[in-house]
Amino acid sequence: MCIFCKIIKGEIPNHTLYEDDQVIAFLDISQVTKGHTLVVPKTHYDNFLTCDDETLAHLMKVTKKLANRIVDKTQAKGVNILSNTGEHAGQTVMHFHVHIIPRYDENDACIIQFNQSETQDLQTLASNIKIK
Ligand code: 5GP
Ligand code: ZN
Repeated sequence: MCIFCKIIKGEIPNHTLYEDDQVIAFLDISQVTKGHTLVVPKTHYDNFLTCDDETLAHLMKVTKKLANRIVDKTQAKGVNILSNTGEHAGQTVMHFHVHIIPRYDENDACIIQFNQSETQDLQTLASNIKIK
């Protein structure tokens, strides 16, 4: 059983901020910034891409509500909402979760950087990916 399933079953202690029949949210054990929180479906899905649509929709509503509350209570100036999906994207716990990372200033401990890479043929790329 994965570590988040153990938390959901109550086998590992956590600091719960919200819970209902589908979702639990608790403080991340390593606080990247103060208030760093994980929102987790109670059913085990490996990641965002495989999560059931209804559960995902509900989880995102909870994420919005909680992110507003966290920003309010921590006086954060911004917030990153993200889900690492797959090992190559930095996912370390293979149970779908959304991170809420409050941001205080550009020098806080959360570094998300978009670097310029090779130029792409946007026309070809778009026609390949576009959902018609
Ligand atoms: P990922 O790297 O998969 O996007 O994020 C996994 C997150 O889970 C990490 O930020 C890590 O600190 C957190 N985490 C791992 N084990 C535990 C735990 O036992 N309790 C809590 N509260 N967080 C955990
Ligand atoms: Zn799990």
